[in-house]
Amino acid sequence: PAHGETILEARHVTRRFGGLVANDDMSLEVHAGEILALIGPNGAGKSTLFNQLSGVDTPTSGDILFMGQRINGQSSRRIASLGMSRTFQHVKLLPEMTVLENVALGAHLRGGKGVLSAALRLDRAEEAELLAEARRQLERVGLGDHLYAEAGSLALGQQRILEIARALCADPCLLLLDEPAAGLRHKEKEALGVLLSRLRSEGMAILLVEHDMDFVMGLVDRVVVMEFGQRIAHGLPEQVQKDPAVLEAYLGG
Ligand code: ADP
Ligand code: MG
Repeated sequence: PAHGETILEARHVTRRFGGLVANDDMSLEVHAGEILALIGPNGAGKSTLFNQLSGVDTPTSGDILFMGQRINGQSSRRIASLGMSRTFQHVKLLPEMTVLENVALGAHLRGGKGVLSAALRLDRAEEAELLAEARRQLERVGLGDHLYAEAGSLALGQQRILEIARALCADPCLLLLDEPAAGLRHKEKEALGVLLSRLRSEGMAILLVEHDMDFVMGLVDRVVVMEFGQRIAHGLPEQVQKDPAVLEAYLGG
């Protein structure tokens, strides 16, 4: 997609869980080549929205458009094949497998083959191609020196970057990252920020959930703020930071 073009759009997305409205008439747009931060207090509905966008869950009402297609109710595999890739709030690694195996296996599962075929029938050529792609993406994110380390032995910051490498294997134009910086030390956050900026300069669009305002403000192009399932503010980082509704949501509690 051309830089700046709208690639993902949530239109009036509502997701109810029984009586609880986790997403309430939520709308947002992501443009090609930008980093958009989705921020808001715990329980605001950010991860729920990610699930609607990525096909992990289906909205109660509203529409999601990606690359010009309505994708509500489509499988996460199908959506991934259109160019959207995501990570989850909690790291999902196989700690005793190598870094390379973790990324290759993730790529395989994203490729639509399913867990059973992943375990049972990977032909040699396919396996070689997966490992080559995994290696390329690990080198791209700066983990090329750790291919054969046990994934569980990596520092948390490196594990998060491993997950990004895994998401990159599907050759996405949009990455959804759910709290990639949570719990990281300052240096690790810096390294993550450098990586995300570099991916953006390569044309990648990134939608990320983040709590650390300082991290967000120095990095992202635009911000959408959620509270109680709704969008309460959006705009440039420096605008949003001064928005009374945002200050109230964060400080007023
Ligand atoms: P955030 O990611 O912003 O912290 P979540 O999207 O995880 O918030 O959660 C929003 C609200 O929806 C919370 O009140 C949460 O308990 C509720 N919720 C999320 N997923 C489910 C579910 N599968 N069933 C019931 N309630 C859910
Ligand atoms: Mg969350």
